[in-house]
Amino acid sequence: MVAKIISGREVAEKILTTDLKNRVDALNKRNIKPKLVVMLVGDVKASASYVRQKEKFAVKAGIASEVVRFESSATEDEILNKIDAINNDDKIHGVIVQLPLPDHISITKVLNKIDPSKDVDGFTPTNVGKLFLGEETLVSCTPKGIMQMLASTGVDLTGKNVTVIGRSNIVGKPVSILCQQQNATVTMCHSKTKNLNAKLSDADVVIVAVGVPKFVDGSQIPEGAIVIDVGIHNIDGKLCGDVDFESACEKASAITPVPGGVGPMTVCALIENTIIAAERIN
Ligand code: NAP
Repeated sequence: MVAKIISGREVAEKILTTDLKNRVDALNKRNIKPKLVVMLVGDVKASASYVRQKEKFAVKAGIASEVVRFESSATEDEILNKIDAINNDDKIHGVIVQLPLPDHISITKVLNKIDPSKDVDGFTPTNVGKLFLGEETLVSCTPKGIMQMLASTGVDLTGKNVTVIGRSNIVGKPVSILCQQQNATVTMCHSKTKNLNAKLSDADVVIVAVGVPKFVDGSQIPEGAIVIDVGIHNIDGKLCGDVDFESACEKASAITPVPGGVGPMTVCALIENTIIAAERIN
């Protein structure tokens, strides 16, 4: 079998320039101009390139975006005070703090400071709790983007077996909940899982978010499975994912590439969350 490529780049482009653009036009008619603020602390090269992509996608959907930069020496109080100001600014609908943060700044304190109604990364305890309870919320961006890519394949997850490798708070756990909400049977794997291959053997969908280059290869993927590769690594200047793309392509029915798969969908979901936050304003 030769896998169909699920292009996150194409799916994102379509969502941004049709559905999201139309929703922004409708908001503009109500005199609401959705605005996203990205807070960037320090000089992390990878963060800077993610931020550039966020700005580019904001333009495509027609929303405003602003990057607020801090030196890596900025104090925790400076960051918290800025979040306070953003929480109280009616013209700003969404805010994210680009991770990682310097060691002297508590991620927990920073996330807890963000007003959940502006938490477009979906990382605050309130929004994570609502996701868990199946309530309407701002769903964190990578899992949301993954679900949109799965939807783009036309797969109905009801009764399907989904194996998720990785249980992080930002990918593995939330995506497993979203798949369960669509009636899939989910198997969660992590570093202490025994006999991973057995857990993969009857998977209809495999989602890999491990953070190890080419961790899963074609020999472990059941014939015809859909493969979502969340990982992203720069090996000697070449990007690859957590899945060995070439061998996986021979077994999967559909697969996300790296780059151009989950990455653009994550940013697209961030823009959509900002629009949702703006739409909720009366
Ligand atoms: P993370 O927080 O480091 O979590 C990794 C997970 O993988 C953990 O649950 C860990 O298990 C599990 N794991 C590690 N080694 C394993 C092994 N040998 N067997 C089975 N499970 C193992 O990572 P993350 O934040 O979810 O990110 C994962 C990857 O996705 C990274 O490459 C990251 O850069 C990428 N990512 C990409 C995007 C995007 O937009 N494209 C967004 C987010 C993340 P334990 O819990 O037992 O330690």
